[in-house]
Amino acid sequence: MSITHVDLRSDTVTRPSPAMRREMAEAEVGDDGFGDDPTVNALQEEVAALFGKEDSLFMPSGTMSNSVAVATLCRGEAICEADAHVYYYELSAAACRAGVQLIPVKGNRGTLWWADVAPMVRPGPPRFNRTGLICLENTHNRAGGTIVPLEAIADVARGAREVGIPVHLDGARLWHAAIATGTPLSAYAAYADTVSVCFSKGLGAPIGACLCGPRDALVEARMVRSTFGGRLRQVGIIAAGARYALRYNLERLEDDHRRARTLADGLANVDGLSVETPDTNIVMIDITAPGVTAPAIEESLRAQGVWVVAIGPQRLRAVTHLDVDDAGIDKALSVFGDVMKAAGSA
Ligand SMILES: *Cc1c(COP(=O)(O)O)cnc(C)c1O
Repeated sequence: MSITHVDLRSDTVTRPSPAMRREMAEAEVGDDGFGDDPTVNALQEEVAALFGKEDSLFMPSGTMSNSVAVATLCRGEAICEADAHVYYYELSAAACRAGVQLIPVKGNRGTLWWADVAPMVRPGPPRFNRTGLICLENTHNRAGGTIVPLEAIADVARGAREVGIPVHLDGARLWHAAIATGTPLSAYAAYADTVSVCFSKGLGAPIGACLCGPRDALVEARMVRSTFGGRLRQVGIIAAGARYALRYNLERLEDDHRRARTLADGLANVDGLSVETPDTNIVMIDITAPGVTAPAIEESLRAQGVWVVAIGPQRLRAVTHLDVDDAGIDKALSVFGDVMKAAGSA
């Protein structure tokens, strides 16, 4: 099959491979509402063990997983990074579903330290709202797939523990941080009460996330998930894709990181672009050419079979994943070069 286009819009665009589909089709299933689905139960146990938590709960999406965590752990306000997914992309889920107000705090490349968070912590009644949760994100999506250092997570967790506030870690792409740094997933997770992880991003499964944490919190989270319409039945058919992804698609994230660096290095040499070396699989491309906008470049690239997204007036995002190979990166680089040359001479 020849490539018709290179889709770098997100790592959510991957399609399940024939082998993954086969495992899904053949999965043993039962009614998860009764706790009877053996494939879901196996996945939840595997994921809990990977993250060093007592248990985990399968979720239809990372957004539901984050919202359920907020609703389970927090009353009052939750502090998060100003570009965090929970704040920027999840509409008003925390407010609508959990009755929680999010307090955004600007970090450095997505990283917050306790010194950033502490001034925003509020004591609660009688006069103030109560800070009930701190949400961290790793890798940080909108900052460009940046790795939040373990020391920063530890620092926030230590401060939070001293004042009795739980920590939720949105680890939709924590896989990437672990693979890129060689730090075990459980080392990151140790500093958080709950951790949410996605199977439908870099791991290449079609659907699914897991919320990991202490058993008693997850009993409560299962109830909250039901109120969101998330009571699941023979969902092993989906969980089988996630189990397959964990077995075959985790170590290979290194390839995505290498390709992201190749793409960034090549684009850094294109006139009119400014590109930082990515930590993981997300490449942020700033357009410095005068009078040229990101949406216009997005459109020109798309006409030549390279799909990226404009995430700001001058900023494009390109994400590598398991459906983009070396030839795809070569094509993206050559088309980018042509498009920027044309834009410069227009
Ligand atoms: C994609 C993403 C999510 C949620 O993912 P969905 O499964 O699309 O709901 C949460 N957090 C981060 C950082 C993400 O990138």
